[in-house]
Amino acid sequence: MSNYAVFGHPIAHSLSPRIHALFGEQTGIALRYDAIDSPPAEFRTRLAEFAAAGGRGINVTMPLKQDAFRLSAHVSDFARRVGAVNTMSRREDAGWNGDNTDGAGLIRDLTGRPALDLRSRRSLLLGAGGAARAAAHALLDAGIGELVIVNRTAERAESLVDDIGIPGLVHARYWADLRECGGFDLVVNATSSGVTRESLDLPFNLVTSRALCYDLSYGAAAFGFLAWARAAHAGKALDGLGMLIEQAAESFQLWHGTRPETDPVYEQLRGELPLRATD
Ligand code: NDP
Repeated sequence: MSNYAVFGHPIAHSLSPRIHALFGEQTGIALRYDAIDSPPAEFRTRLAEFAAAGGRGINVTMPLKQDAFRLSAHVSDFARRVGAVNTMSRREDAGWNGDNTDGAGLIRDLTGRPALDLRSRRSLLLGAGGAARAAAHALLDAGIGELVIVNRTAERAESLVDDIGIPGLVHARYWADLRECGGFDLVVNATSSGVTRESLDLPFNLVTSRALCYDLSYGAAAFGFLAWARAAHAGKALDGLGMLIEQAAESFQLWHGTRPETDPVYEQLRGELPLRATD
């Protein structure tokens, strides 16, 4: 049986072992998938131990994605652009291959079940951490229109905009200026504010009537943002459960060469979460 795991700190809350077990059952692929708690200072050692014990692949979550990037002998083009790795695959005698499936997971979730056309949507991205970086690159690759990036620490939004380097299309604005930014057809919350139950100061006029409001967080952590979106009469408001499952399916495909069906896993986990997304 081949060996996989998710590394993070903390990690007890992770749904990834559950998702990969369901994928394994569905595809008939026998696998073991554990959750391994690893503080950043111990990640290199734990990863080496995992490889020595026959580990074939890992997912990486907060706060280890940039360390995973540095520990990868080879990285995909998308992971290089984002500067973070969430999926590592062991190559015989060639170290770890680093990839980032968060961006593909987000786009699959937006364009799959809700079948949204992202092209030319005027978009607002809240946050400039690792997940926001993946989201920004993936949304631009998918053909969105103007992208405005706002972050609590303004310098990080400016730095992300500089890295992307499309000045006519992508701009940073201050949080305090959001009221003057006009309406958006897509509002993506890539902050971790919901996890710490902090509320975001967001004016209702950000939301056009056809807008999709999307929170990368899921379950109770998405409650505040989705409640705001509903109060602002957004066309659609979704949490990030689907993205979590889609990015896991992308990792599964990298490791096993087959992409599992995500809809049954989504339906099962959606029924178990405390909060439902709204259409
Ligand atoms: P990071 O720690 O890298 O970034 C956190 C971001 O949130 C920063 O931009 C930070 O701003 C901002 N932030 C935190 N607290 C607040 C607050 N109170 N008000 C405003 N902004 C705030 O985290 P990640 O980018 O890795 O993850 C972000 C979220 O996305 C998490 O909730 C995570 O669970 C989720 N996620 C979901 C995935 C999925 O598959 N559904 C995949 C990956 C992530 P500042 O720079 O000022 O600190």
